[in-house]
Amino acid sequence: LNEFEAIRRISGRLPDPPPEVIVPIGDDCAVLRFGDALWVVAADMLIEERHFRGSWATPEDVGYKAVAVNVSDVAAMGAVPRFVLASGGAPEAETTLRCMEGVLEACEEFGAYPLGGDTTGAAALTVDVAILGQLAHAPVLRSGADPGDLLAVTGELGASAAGLLALENGETAPERLIKKHLRPEPRVTLGRAAARLGASAMIDLSDGLASDVRHVCEMSDVGCCIDLGLLPVAGDTREYALSAGRDPEILAATGGEDYELLVAAPEEVVEALAAESEVPVTVVGQTTRGRVEFVRDGKPVENLSGWDHFADA
Ligand SMILES: [Mg+2]
Repeated sequence: LNEFEAIRRISGRLPDPPPEVIVPIGDDCAVLRFGDALWVVAADMLIEERHFRGSWATPEDVGYKAVAVNVSDVAAMGAVPRFVLASGGAPEAETTLRCMEGVLEACEEFGAYPLGGDTTGAAALTVDVAILGQLAHAPVLRSGADPGDLLAVTGELGASAAGLLALENGETAPERLIKKHLRPEPRVTLGRAAARLGASAMIDLSDGLASDVRHVCEMSDVGCCIDLGLLPVAGDTREYALSAGRDPEILAATGGEDYELLVAAPEEVVEALAAESEVPVTVVGQTTRGRVEFVRDGKPVENLSGWDHFADA
């Protein structure tokens, strides 16, 4: 039983949704309609030893990241974050408090109001954040991609995974990459612009491009071809990956936790998005009527996959 199968089974047991539910489970957020207003809702949890080690990340980092990753799911719908509920626990109350300080710092950074939550004692530092975001335009779903759409990613890939490698190697540098891992920067402005400009489909890159693009393709009933040579991998990411004996493009495609956006859209929409965005927008491939394929130097690259949430830690 892997995570996706578990989600499938849970989804299969849900009752019919009430009429306010416009998009049920299965996307980055659920979408609710109240009167004329469209809201998105999501939740995501971080657990010590599963998602981070206490020796790498301060409790403040963990609280901050728990909010940031939820904001990223809101951004992936084209919405803006508005309200947060945070629940957390740790062996010591002091640690829980420090984690919640990180939650508050991130709420301020991303413009979300902390409504409340719960605290408890726990065997390991654990924080669960629920978020509400508001839509100004129709939500961008995972299921809207058409064959022939361009696939573009925001920002850069692999930096967070390279930062994680550094942390796993007990290093404190490169600092930029470690910061990318501990304090991701969700792409709210860009996600909102993608919704306004009429992107076909969108997802945030949490599990890694190789895994996340499959969700878009499955739900849109399309294939894709992604050229690993086009992935935006920064010089320091490339350098660190090579020094750690890792292939930079493979790391960028599978490492996960980039919290960038993958956008499927017609060429003119991608161009308009790139023109108005301060964050780089890089075309990495195209959707097709075939299967999900990755190529490099014109040759197929097989067996690329991302993070398995239920794999042995
Ligand atoms: Mg997501």
